[in-house]
Amino acid sequence: MKQSPNLQDIQEAMKPGSLSAEGFLGTDDRSLSDILQADQQTVRRLGVTDQAIAAAMRRLTEAAKTGLGKPIELDGLYEATDDEFMGRLPCPFRDNFKAEKRITTVHNLATGQTMAWSDLNIHMIEAHGFYEGFGSHYRLEPAGLVDFLGGVERLRA
Ligand SMILES: [Zn+2]
Repeated sequence: MKQSPNLQDIQEAMKPGSLSAEGFLGTDDRSLSDILQADQQTVRRLGVTDQAIAAAMRRLTEAAKTGLGKPIELDGLYEATDDEFMGRLPCPFRDNFKAEKRITTVHNLATGQTMAWSDLNIHMIEAHGFYEGFGSHYRLEPAGLVDFLGGVERLRA
């Protein structure tokens, strides 16, 4: 699909070395609008919202922050660890948002699965419905992420 010049500029800024060393698109050769559309379809099909997903992620990140680098248990289901780095990362969508450089690593005690995300991931999902491109280090598959966060029922609650 042909995308707006604005999205085209944003896609340029998402390439490696512009705003971040690794960039946000990985090995994905789709246009940014196609990436956004495909993930929005998945989120809609699941019957959840980007905002509910982001809220569940933020809750884990906020819990992790209280551990100051040590794992914090939440709901008897998750163990979340916070890693904070110096500086801030600008959002590539040009909204003047700057995220703290933080990685939250979450271990799901029920499934044994581990996922990690940055504060910028949470913002990009909440504000832009962006889960990064295929092959990107911090790509979060919406369906897998929803599962990890406890499933659709929990996110709708
Ligand atoms: Zn933004």
